[in-house]
Amino acid sequence: MLTVREVPVSPLSVERLRRLIEPEAWSRFLNGVEQAGALLDEREFWNVNSTASGGGVAEMLRSWVGLARGLGVGMRWVTIAGTPEFFTLTKRLHNFLHGAPGDGGELGEEERAIYERASRANAEAVLANLGPRDVVLLHDPQTAGMVPRLAESGRTVIWRCHVGADESNEYSRAAWDFLEPYIARADACVFSREAYVPPFCREMLTVIVPPSIDAMSPKNQDIGMDTVEAILGHVGLLAGARRSGGRPEYTLSDGTTAWVRRRCEVISAGPLPGPDDTVVVQVSRWDRLKDPVGVIRGFEMVALEDTDAHLVLAGPSLGSVSDDPEGAAVFAEAESKWRRLPLPIRSRVHLACLPMEDLDENAVIVNALQRQATIVVQKSLMEGFGLTVTEAMWKARPVIASAIGGIRDQIEDGVTGVLLADPHDTEAFGVATLRLLKAPAHAKEIGVAARESVRASFLEDRHTLQYVDLLKRLLT
Ligand code: UDP
Repeated sequence: MLTVREVPVSPLSVERLRRLIEPEAWSRFLNGVEQAGALLDEREFWNVNSTASGGGVAEMLRSWVGLARGLGVGMRWVTIAGTPEFFTLTKRLHNFLHGAPGDGGELGEEERAIYERASRANAEAVLANLGPRDVVLLHDPQTAGMVPRLAESGRTVIWRCHVGADESNEYSRAAWDFLEPYIARADACVFSREAYVPPFCREMLTVIVPPSIDAMSPKNQDIGMDTVEAILGHVGLLAGARRSGGRPEYTLSDGTTAWVRRRCEVISAGPLPGPDDTVVVQVSRWDRLKDPVGVIRGFEMVALEDTDAHLVLAGPSLGSVSDDPEGAAVFAEAESKWRRLPLPIRSRVHLACLPMEDLDENAVIVNALQRQATIVVQKSLMEGFGLTVTEAMWKARPVIASAIGGIRDQIEDGVTGVLLADPHDTEAFGVATLRLLKAPAHAKEIGVAARESVRASFLEDRHTLQYVDLLKRLLT
């Protein structure tokens, strides 16, 4: 028997957002929220996805659901359950939708039976909680199979896809063919980019809503460099501290103070970077599409040149992301590449698994790492949107990232970041990194422009208003 779980999320204060956005944006936002309240009336708005932690969807839901509740909107969040075969299959669908072969497995009758069995059970379990007029927002391929049952029950069903490929290929077509019979029954679909919309969705009500970040969450809140150094020192990612007096503490969403207690598991063969050292950082799930091995390869070039830069590759502790069965294997590939590096380079490359027991603690460690970084990189081979890019830009860090997917919507090359035309070209990645390391004034300018661009386009006001528009079209 599969059990869905409600994710407990505390209401967040909206004042947090007011202080960050322009006054006109704030009044547009308040107006939109009032309309949402009227449209929903007594209905509740349910988000359904497959994991409460790890990855961009969980990250976004945590703050969006909290903000909605803070505004008095009846927003709920549940996660579905599944067997290992189900998650292996949905990971295959995820990879295929990105146009990547993943495990190269089948999408045949047997897979359809596995998918439908879990989807039916999950749909029934979710339905047991729903009011008769509720609205359901299902996220990603893990939940698409639930659409028909929920739609048949008379609920308003929106399917939200966070992944996609700029160009279709045999894999993405196979995944869409597999998913079409379910998704076609939804009342509306949401994608992060126009290019991700498959042909059959063009005949449906389909809207484009890029994601956003919560600027006040432990992941993104402003913390001073003394705190950054204290946190990274405590977790085992920084040697020494330049600024004294910092404590490894941060502010929780309810305004109380929490401490970083756990440490990271770090694979390292030399001294950790010190506070004055140059550090290149990538934070990602251990996923081949984030190309951790490619990042190490590109960094070899940087390390061989006249720099003393360090590379920190950070991701969640292994086994902590419930819908991601490939994490341990991908980490092992990165570790094996690391072991084969010549010692002088290996000693400047550090692989870090961040503790995931407490998500706020995990988030503030990511925050500190991104702030300590001289450059943040995101050398993904495919990327639906790339929240890590938004997060680093918000911290005014210069970002070098592949010119793919939603990253192209976030970075204006040379102005708010640096884009890599070919995500597979590790040499170009190394050259771009070296060039930016040698131009600190330009890197700083890029960082400042990046923060303003996130303020204007990628905070929660814009994202929420787009959903209010969609609700207007669906409920009136
Ligand atoms: N993340 C995290 N801890 C980690 C690794 C990643 O909190 O150890 C977060 C990261 O900060 C970002 C999200 O997971 O908020 C990843 O979202 P993104 O859109 O970059 O990629 P996805 O994982 O959804 O493919």
